[in-house]
Amino acid sequence: MLNIDLHCHSTISDGLLTPAQLVTRAATRGVETLALTDHDDVAGLDEARQEATAKNITLINGVEISVSWRGRTIHIVGLGIDPLHPPLAQGLLSIRNGRITRARNIAAQLDKAGIHGSLKGAIEHAGEGQLIGRLHFARFLVEKGHAKDIKSVFKKYLVKGKPGYTAHQWATLSDAVGWICSSGGRAVIAHPARYKLGKNVLNDLLTEFSQAGGSAIEVITASHTKEQALFFAHHAQQIGLLASCGSDFHGPDESYYDLGQLPDLPPGCLPVWHDWTRTT
Ligand code: AMP
Ligand code: MN
Ligand code: MN
Ligand code: MN
Repeated sequence: MLNIDLHCHSTISDGLLTPAQLVTRAATRGVETLALTDHDDVAGLDEARQEATAKNITLINGVEISVSWRGRTIHIVGLGIDPLHPPLAQGLLSIRNGRITRARNIAAQLDKAGIHGSLKGAIEHAGEGQLIGRLHFARFLVEKGHAKDIKSVFKKYLVKGKPGYTAHQWATLSDAVGWICSSGGRAVIAHPARYKLGKNVLNDLLTEFSQAGGSAIEVITASHTKEQALFFAHHAQQIGLLASCGSDFHGPDESYYDLGQLPDLPPGCLPVWHDWTRTT
């Protein structure tokens, strides 16, 4: 099977490698087709494409869009998008602006819990003027000794009911899927098991997503156990959605799957790339 990875992050969002370093690592580890899917930003795609050309691997233009749906945060990956498509570019810009406000709110919440200087610290991890997210706060919290690693941060901080949590309104599901589709891309629900949805709510999400023009769900991802992968593979087949796979790689020491080592999709899945040509 094709060695393909359709979900990963660079320093443009909350990854640790630059787009060029990421592509180099992917190529070295045998990836043939890679999608760079930074959170709410497409600014890494040019650099990634140059490196992909040099390393002779196929780069898919991607993005991972933050969405609010029924009070939950859902991530929608766009694959094969046109990064210059104005509605997509404007939509992503407005999400990034929202992230700045949210970062101030997160820092204010951490201040209340007696943890000071987190905004400055998180910005140092993100890079001045760069997209800011919870992982940058998490790295700051580890650095200052508030948790032993990133995983523990997300148990003690930055999540509902814990210090540093703040509710936030992201894009709507229909807007995000609409921007992706109107730019020529395909929309994919990222790591569906992560949302811990009951049967009916999951069905509602998949129905709304399909009606908005969405076409695939991630079956293989670092967030899924083998059983969850099989469950979503079966689900995708039943309701006629395509299946995707991606490591959600953020950095060498922060990720469950490294680039190039994903298991194959379970048998019977129709891959989201089934009709892509080599030049996509
Ligand atoms: P944000 O989009 O700013 O809310 O940040 C979400 C990001 O935080 C995810 O893409 C992951 O990189 C990271 N994250 C969230 N939950 C966890 C977790 N339990 N363990 C590790 N990283 C996490
Ligand atoms: Mn992330
Ligand atoms: Mn995600
Ligand atoms: Mn991701």
